[in-house]
Order: sequence, then structure tokens, then C-alpha cells
Amino acid sequence: MNIHEYQAKAVLKEFGAPVSAGKAVFSVDEAEAAAKDLGGPLWVVKSQIHAGGRGKGKFKEPEAGEKGGVRLAKSVEEVKTFVGQMLGNTLVTVQTGPAGKQVNRIYIEDGSDIEREFYLSALVDRATSRVAFVVSTEGGMDIEEVAHSTPEKIHTFSIDPATGVMPHHGRTVARALGLSGDLAKQAESLVAKLYAAFVAKDMAMLEINPLIVTKGGELKCLDAKVSFDSNALYRHPDVVALRDVTEEDEKEIEASKHDLAYIALDGTIGCMVNGAGLAMATMDIIKLYGEEPANFLDVGGGASKEKVTAAFKIITADPNVKGILVNIFGGIMKCDVIAEGVIAAVKEVGLKVPLVVRLEGTNVELGKKILNESGLNVISADDLDDAAQKIVKAVKGA
Ligand code: GDP
Ligand code: MG
Repeated sequence: MNIHEYQAKAVLKEFGAPVSAGKAVFSVDEAEAAAKDLGGPLWVVKSQIHAGGRGKGKFKEPEAGEKGGVRLAKSVEEVKTFVGQMLGNTLVTVQTGPAGKQVNRIYIEDGSDIEREFYLSALVDRATSRVAFVVSTEGGMDIEEVAHSTPEKIHTFSIDPATGVMPHHGRTVARALGLSGDLAKQAESLVAKLYAAFVAKDMAMLEINPLIVTKGGELKCLDAKVSFDSNALYRHPDVVALRDVTEEDEKEIEASKHDLAYIALDGTIGCMVNGAGLAMATMDIIKLYGEEPANFLDVGGGASKEKVTAAFKIITADPNVKGILVNIFGGIMKCDVIAEGVIAAVKEVGLKVPLVVRLEGTNVELGKKILNESGLNVISADDLDDAAQKIVKAVKGA
């Protein structure tokens, strides 16, 4: 689960990490009050969307002005102007995709004088089963590009959960960032605070880009991006309260209501599969034959007809879906239940794209019979390979 920058900063502040003073606002009036409260003389007006690259982003609507989604303001009037331009408009960044995201909240922050910009992040490293830190002097930039072209500028280390953060970790960060004296001490203390926050809140990822040194000689988290481990949310009601569903994919929200394991993707072939492994294999083979999956969907083992119907409706409602592949290996799941779910969904919402069905396993004959007698235009397939080739061909032909 992701949260907004201003919420992430509030979480980090709880653990003593240095962040600027700021206020989240939903209107120009609130922005004016917040700007006056903060006092200036420099304010940062920051669009709050669940995507990075806001500073270099562009608004779709011309009335939002030429500047990006993060702007420096030198007066209360300017804060009001920027907020008025941003609110309700669509910000497109490298991370939002071409559709962009509507800005509904703005964070007004005390502006900092920047001396240097660094990169720092923490994440769960599956290879070492530990929390790993990544630091670099190349802050504010596209870190993937830095990792690619100048990998020597990226420093990583992981924390042994048995000992937690040790003084040498702090020294490693200070050395990597070229900090000494008091700034090195600040770096040491920051790493300990961020690690404490990461573990206590069951974060999956924490990214500070940029981490800055101010002209006054202070280390500060100028941007913050946090995502939490969804499997641990049950023990963090305070984190769940930060959820902004308007930022999430509607199809994924609908799927979660039906307890379906569904992830929206960018491709054209909608997939309905049982079992996570088979769902992955299905996505792989679609790619192998030259198309891209529109989603990951595992309907689970003992799915009911209602659940299958809901799943099929979510797939057909996606305008990017140009073809559907149902791939079921009936073990606990029964093929006739799948067939009935598909037919019920098609009766309600229709079927405008080609549908390839590959059924195998429990009640397969009954499942095939139900589909054959339904009058639906189903392309049946014998195995996974055959099914993938048929749906790719149908989509490409269309
Ligand atoms: P992002 O573009 O979504 O990553 O948003 P950031 O919060 O990282 O802001 C983008 C850029 O705006 C930063 O890299 C800084 O260069 C600049 N910026 C943000 N806050 C301040 C500030 O307080 N003072 C100054 N001078 N620049 C800022
Ligand atoms: Mg940033």
C-alpha cells in the first residue's frame, strides 16, 4: 500500500527524522491559511499524487501553467496562484504513464536552501532476507540511470536484524556521501531513525530523493516515498487510515471486494486463471508469443460462480482488453463452475472481444459442454501453448 509524501513525512517525523514543516491542503483558501501559518519567505507547493517525478512533470491542462508539479513560491499570493493552477488538474510524470493523475491534495512546505542533494532508500532485500539501504551522492536524479551508467556511485549495505543498526552503518553512509564532522553524526542518527520507522511500520520500501544538506548545515528529508507490506496492514490500523483509494486502480479495488488476487497491467490480453503459478506461466507464455497480459488474476482454489462472474466482469470492463484467455486447471476448482461464471458474466455485460478457453481437470467435460451449449463464441484450446497462440492470433487479427 502506498501513501502520499506528506503522510510519509509525518510518519518519519514520529521517529525523529528531520523534515520541513508543512501542511496538506485541499483548496486555495486552506493554502492561503497554511502559507501564512508557515510564514515563508520561501514555500514549496507540492502536488500530492502516488507517483514520483512530479518536479519534472507537466500538467495536461494549459491553465495549470508551464511549471511542473513541485514549485517554489516567494509570496503567499504565488502559493495561492500555484495551488489554484494545480488543484483538479492532471499531472503527467514518467511514473504516472500518459494518462497522468488528477491532483486533489497539495502539500505546502517551508522552503529549504539546498547545498547538496543525495539519494537514500531502504527496502526488503529478498536475497539477504534483510532490510537493505541504498545511498548515492547522485540525488534528485533518476537513480536507475545512475545505477546503469555509474554503478560505482551507488552504495548498498544490509542490516542484520539480530543487531539492528550499528555505528558502522552510519559511518558507511557518511563516507559514501562524503560527509564529515557534525553532518556525519546526523547521517548516523538518520539511518537509525529510518531503520526504526521501517521495521516498526512494516514498510516494504522507503525512498528519500533528495536527501539534502541545507545551506545551514542540516541533513533533511526533502522528499519521501513509502510503501507498506500489505500482508502486515492488519497490525497497523493507523497506516490503513492513510489509504487514499482515489489513487488506486478501480479494478483492483473492485477485485479486493471479492477477495480476488488481481493486479492490473498494461497489456491487451485479459487473463482468468486459477493458482498464482499458473497465472504467472500464462502471463509468460502470452509474452512469449508476442503480446502483453492486461492483468494478473488468480481466482483461487474454491472460487464460487459469483466470484468467477465478478472476475470476468472486471476483465471485460477494462477498455485495454482486446482478448480474453481463460486458463483453468481444475483441481479443487471445478471446470463447470468456471464455465457457469463466465456465462453469467457475459449475460450481464456482453462479450465484445475474442475469448479463448482452456479447461483441464475436474469436471472438464461438463465445463466444455456448458460452454459449447451456451451459444457463446468461444475458441477452445487443448493446452496452454495452443491457448496462448490462439488468443495472440485472435488479438493480432482484430
Ligand atoms: P519529485 O519530483 O516527485 O521527486 O518531487 P521532490 O519532492 O523530489 O521535488 C522535486 C525537486 O524540487 C527536488 O529535487 C528539489 O530540487 C526541488 N525542491 C523540493 N523542495 C525544495 C525546497 O524546499 N527548496 C528548494 N530550493 N528546492 C526544492
Ligand atoms: Mg523526489
